[in-house]
Amino acid sequence: MNYAPFFALCMRIVHTTHKMNDHNQTPKRLAVLALAQQAANCMNCGLASTRTQVVFGDGNPDGPLLIVGEGPGMNEDLEGRPFVGKAGQLLDSCLAEQTIDRRHIYITNVVRCRPTIREEKSVRNRPPSSEEMAACLPWLQQTIAIIQPVVILCLGAPSAKTIIKPDFRITQERGQWFSNSYAPNIIASWHPSYVMRMHGDAYDKARAQLVGDIAAARNRVREVRRTLEQSTALEET
Ligand code: SF4
Repeated sequence: MNYAPFFALCMRIVHTTHKMNDHNQTPKRLAVLALAQQAANCMNCGLASTRTQVVFGDGNPDGPLLIVGEGPGMNEDLEGRPFVGKAGQLLDSCLAEQTIDRRHIYITNVVRCRPTIREEKSVRNRPPSSEEMAACLPWLQQTIAIIQPVVILCLGAPSAKTIIKPDFRITQERGQWFSNSYAPNIIASWHPSYVMRMHGDAYDKARAQLVGDIAAARNRVREVRRTLEQSTALEET
């Protein structure tokens, strides 16, 4: 589906709004906000009937790095922000090791409502189904079209299969670079929830790989910026 007309309209509206009254907001921030307001009432899949709220995304839409996870869990569903539970704390600590925080990046998920499975006395998280991911894809595509990230970091196989390619194999292709119409630089790593399920040396190794992939993403952003600065300097001579 071509989202260019929607994006162009959105940007025209937000440019006008921006000029009119809010000097702290940027066109991308306003466009993401407008999209999130639309998504708040989304009924496009069955997750709408069990969610507390749509968890659209968090962070800085003007940042060069977009992180895409799997879906909200219980804490995210209650709080309305992605990656706020234990997996989120682990992600934040890995990002902090590379001097990155949420002011520098935007974080979202392939599905924006919590997938759950009801057991006898409890309700627990589950991975999103392929139908749910397909239903939610337009929100992700529109988010990417607004942000136009320099680098996308996919966390976990569902995100990599959605953004990189359907037959992505996380155990073999994690940490490799890809490029497609979503972004010129895309890399996948372990989901923090997967890392948390590891123990001992396996935990240390998986966590180190996640930190390494975050470092690779940050370094790629820096390389792209350096190249852009050099070509701008050349044009000005
Ligand atoms: S998961 Fe996505 S498609 Fe499904 S109801 Fe929520 S926002 Fe809509």
